[in-house]
Parts: sequence; C-alpha cells; structure tokens
Amino acid sequence: MLNVAKFGGTSVANFAAMQNCAKIVKNNLNTKVVVVSASAGVTNLLVDIAHTPLTSEQIHSKVAEIAVIQQAILHALDKPQEVNDKLAELMDSLTTLATHEELLHRPDLKDALISHGERLSSLLFSAVLKEFGVNASNYDVRKVLKTDSEFGQAAPQLNDIRQAAQRLMLPELSHTVLVTQGFIGADEAGNTTTLGRGGSDFTAALLAEALDAATCEIWTDVIGVYTTDPRITSAAQPLPELSFEEAAEMATFGAKVLHPATMEPALRQNIKVFVGSSREPEKGGTWIVRDCQHEPAYRAITRRKDQVMVTVKTPKMMFAQGFLQKVFTIIAKHKLSVDLVTTSEIAVSFTLDNPPNSVLQRLNRETLDELREFCSVLVEENFDLVTVVGNNMQSAAGVSSKIFSAVSDYNLRMICYGANPHNMSFLVRGSDSTDVVKVLHKALFE
Ligand code: ADP
Ligand code: ASP
Ligand code: MG
Repeated sequence: MLNVAKFGGTSVANFAAMQNCAKIVKNNLNTKVVVVSASAGVTNLLVDIAHTPLTSEQIHSKVAEIAVIQQAILHALDKPQEVNDKLAELMDSLTTLATHEELLHRPDLKDALISHGERLSSLLFSAVLKEFGVNASNYDVRKVLKTDSEFGQAAPQLNDIRQAAQRLMLPELSHTVLVTQGFIGADEAGNTTTLGRGGSDFTAALLAEALDAATCEIWTDVIGVYTTDPRITSAAQPLPELSFEEAAEMATFGAKVLHPATMEPALRQNIKVFVGSSREPEKGGTWIVRDCQHEPAYRAITRRKDQVMVTVKTPKMMFAQGFLQKVFTIIAKHKLSVDLVTTSEIAVSFTLDNPPNSVLQRLNRETLDELREFCSVLVEENFDLVTVVGNNMQSAAGVSSKIFSAVSDYNLRMICYGANPHNMSFLVRGSDSTDVVKVLHKALFE
C-alpha cells in the first residue's frame, strides 16, 4: 500500500509550513517516499540567475535571498549542526555555478544551477522529519530519475527509472522514509536535468509508477482541485472526485495545481491521486480515480495563458498536396504540440503554448523561422486558451449552446469542439479571459 507524498513550494516555504508536512508524513505509515519542491520563490530566483544577464552584484544579491530563506529553516532546527555543512556545500556549489553560467550560458549549467532549489529543500525537510521522530534520509533522485538530455524540459526514460527505482530505492523503504527532490533528474552522461516548471508533481507520479505505489498525494496550498482556479473567482468550488481523464485534461489545459504530465503515470498504473492542502489536511481534498461515481457534462473550467496564434499561408495551397504535412512535420520535429487548428483552402491557423522564458518559446521561434522558408507566417500574440472540461460533451444535448450563449459578448478567435469528449476550448484575448472564465463559471456551476 505504498504512498508517495509530494509537497509543493508553499508547503516547504518555511519551518512552520514544513512542520505541517512532517505531521502529514508521520500520520500515514504507508508514506515511504516524500518528494519536495524548492521552497517558494527559490526556483524563480534561480531561473532569474540562469536566464537574465546580471552583474556579479546582482547575482550575489539573488543568491543571498536564497540563503536567507534556507538559513531561516536551518536555524529553526533543534540541531542545525547536523545539516549545516551539507547546506553550506550546496550554497557554495550554487554560487560557483551561478558565476560559471553567467559566463558560459550553457543549458546544462542552467539546469545544474536550478536543481539546487530542490536539493536544498529536501535536505532541510529530511532534517525536520527526523526531529519529528521519523526515520528519514535525504535521497538523491538523480540516481533513479533518468531523462533524456533536453535541458529545461527533459523527458523521463521510463524503463530506466523503473529499473533503478526497484533496485536502489525499494530495498531502502523497509526501514526508512526517503525524502527526495522533485523536478530534477539526470541524463545518461550523469548531467543534471530539469523536467519543466511545476515538474515536481510529475516526479511524484513517476516514482509512484516505478515503485508500484497504490497512491500518490499532492499536498499544496488549496484544499483540492476546484471547478476553476480559485484565484480567478471566489465562487470556485473544491471537487471531491475527478476521473483520470478529467484531471489530465484540466492539467493539460492550464490547471496549474497539477503539472500537465502528472496523470500519465497514474493512468498507466491505476494509481489513485489525492490533492489536498498541507496547511489544512483535515479539510480533505480531491481524489482522482479511474472510475468516478458521477460523470457530469461540465466538471471544470481552465485557462492557459500566453498562447500564440499562427496563421500560415501559401498562394499555392489550393491543390498543394503535402503542405499541411510539411507544416506539421516542422512542428513535430521541435516536439511542440498544437492545441487548436482551423483550416481553409488557402490558410491554416493553429495555436502554440508560448510561456515567456520557456523552452517552448525558444522552440516556437525556431519553428516559425523554418516555416517562413516556404510560406507566409502571421503570428498574433496575447491570447489565452479557455477550456471547459467535462464528459460526453460532443453528444450531450445543449452543451455547446449553453456555453456559447454564456460567452456571446466576447470575441472567440478559435473554437475546438467535438474532437474530444472531455473538452471544449476557445481562444480569447488575454484581456478578456478572466471575465470569460467568470461568466462561464456562473452559467455552468453557480
Ligand atoms: P505547488 O507549489 O504546491 O505545486 P502550485 O502553485 O503549482 O502549487 O499549484 C497550486 C495553485 O494552482 C493554486 O494556488 C491555484 O491558484 C492554482 N490552480 C489553478 N487551477 C486550479 C484548480 N482548478 N484547482 C485548484 N487550484 C488551481
Ligand atoms: N520548483 C520547481 C518550480 O518552481 C518545480 C515545482 O515546484 O514543481 O517550477
Ligand atoms: Mg506546482
């Protein structure tokens, strides 16, 4: 009945938050693997150091901010001396890498640098757990979490992960709770990699899969998955249960509470996933399971920001066989996924996820340059993708009319409906998306 518990950035932000997490671990004897994110704010600071040109004073001031966050936790421990040296070592290697990266701009150095957030927080949380009487040890996930070498957005190598986890981690679990890092991994050559922002949820699900766990808990700052992001509207309601498909759809289409790939391992191995608040565990949370009691037509609304709409045109498109294939071959080569597509005789429009400073943004730029070699390309920015997630949406009577009449005051640039029973998506202006989500939420859930 093995359980993997993951604690997000706000859950390990400081000593008091870590104490809440320690109680949760201690109360469930099935929890043998604990995955932690970096303390809140630390990854953002590391990403800043890695991705913006900075003077050495600026680097040192950002490193100092990280040190303040971590030292505050260290000094709240009863016996700080037990982890003091290791913490100092990590802070030293962080500082060295920050300086090297600034000179060399190598993607492997960026990932090695950014990985320090999780390495620091896991060291500190294992010490907190020990003070709670849990026999815990800090475990380097890079021994197990093997990935390819796509720095910044590395893909897990599932067979290697399973083999290493079974061989190296499983025997430890009979006598200790392993506290390990989310979000980071290592490629074949042993270089440190990262899985993309928010990737600790994915790590937890991957380890749960590799260790044949029964459950995977995602402890965060909300009491479950809501009908929409509670930061968009206070009318959002927590959901007691969700199906794997619904949760996967929500995560893919922007519900930040779960990294987009989290549900893949859970689905493959039928692992029940729980989402709850580490501050208020007594409030329960959402269980994500294979078979739900109810399959409502509407379950939730999500939003994904920073979408670009690309329109490619060629005068020769009429009767031009193979044009679409050429376009999508380039997109596939860059491992980009397209969400919405419309075609006409002379043009094809599609949307791409384009979060600033991301690997995707860089790939999108390269993709567009390649497309421009054989067709005209129009890029329009500042769109958000709003998605209604539900069940049998393509066949239930009245679904589309209810949704369309709710948003009739807004300009919908593209619509996707009918291809997938679990969603209906549309592209709206970024400045409209909050209102669109609110009116839809009112029409469908209030
Ligand atoms: P963590 O650091 O624990 O991984 P995240 O910030 O990544 O936490 O995810 C939790 C946040 O996800 C919440 O604070 C909430 O604002 C946001 N969120 C977006 N959509 C949803 C949703 N449908 N239900 C719950 N939270 C959501
Ligand atoms: N610390 C990483 C991030 O902020 C991973 C995570 O929190 O899941 O993106
Ligand atoms: Mg997260």
